[in-house]
Amino acid sequence: MNLSKFIRQNILSLAPYSCARDEFKGNARVFVDANENPFSNGYNRYPDPLQIALKEKIAKLKRVRPSQIMLGNGSDEPIDLVYRIFTEPQKDNVVAIAPSYGMYGVCADINNVEYRKVVLEEGFALNADKVLAAVDENTHVIWLCSPNNPSGNLLNRAEIEKILKGFEGIVVIDEAYADFSSEESWLNSLDKYENLIVLQTFSKAWGLAGVRCGMAFASEEIIGYFNKVKYPYNINLLTQEFVFKKLDEVAEKEKQVKILLEQRARMSAELSKKSRVKKVYPSDANFLLVEVDDANAMYKELADREIVTRNRNNVTLCKNCLRITVGTPEENDILLSEIQ
Ligand SMILES: *Cc1c(COP(=O)(O)O)cnc(C)c1O
Repeated sequence: MNLSKFIRQNILSLAPYSCARDEFKGNARVFVDANENPFSNGYNRYPDPLQIALKEKIAKLKRVRPSQIMLGNGSDEPIDLVYRIFTEPQKDNVVAIAPSYGMYGVCADINNVEYRKVVLEEGFALNADKVLAAVDENTHVIWLCSPNNPSGNLLNRAEIEKILKGFEGIVVIDEAYADFSSEESWLNSLDKYENLIVLQTFSKAWGLAGVRCGMAFASEEIIGYFNKVKYPYNINLLTQEFVFKKLDEVAEKEKQVKILLEQRARMSAELSKKSRVKKVYPSDANFLLVEVDDANAMYKELADREIVTRNRNNVTLCKNCLRITVGTPEENDILLSEIQ
């Protein structure tokens, strides 16, 4: 792959900021290089800009190399960086499936990059040929999300593979909901596809939406560009330490996922019985896309009862749909009794 062909011109030649922590690594007796307050309180020093200790732990868990990982302030940071690294505003374009996660389009708008939507097929299925047909010589990125938000379904592996093979530029597969599906992660294909970026996050199954930590996995070369463009200290020390500690609690995460999957099956079955529910779409994620008689009305009626759902009525293919996250058993009880 000729990666440089897809890099924004000024980023190719960018000399990145060199911070004090880049220039000297290791142990020293005296640190007077970064204008910090020297009196120790645990947080008076700048954090590791490349989060090596945390990445080594994540690498073991995910069976990748630390050099294949970029950590961001949520997945939102790598999503924005993809535009800033791989697209020239007002010239290049990206292709994305629709419906999908809203941030891909918002970041395109912020970066002044054309966002081409390819509508999914019946059952929110991916049609690789349709996606590839939207590509032209200025297409630098294709956005895929599997399991997809807001539809909840996994995208077909063979169709994704066709896109990875048929498109020379960057293919992003957002796996924010991977922990809730039994399908193999695309992380295992990183060495096979040099144009692949996989996104995962601590915000969903790991229960850490509040700490803001997302992961991008890609070739060492692509990660090198992320490191060059990101803010030097983008992951603060509190987050690095907290996520490091939480990574020891895989069993707890899996226990919670198991409960949520049971609750997902229960919610799907119970919601389907409600007279105002027209359809509950199958889900490989921790939410259900539910078609109701009148989504705007039901959204409001539920909100009046202090139950907040996500109204997707105005989203492509989601007319009269609410997106409902699987809650605790108690939260789900309340929703089921109020939705009558
Ligand atoms: C929730 C979600 C994310 C996670 O975003 P963070 O910034 O990591 O919290 C990423 N992608 C999709 C599709 C999501 O639904």
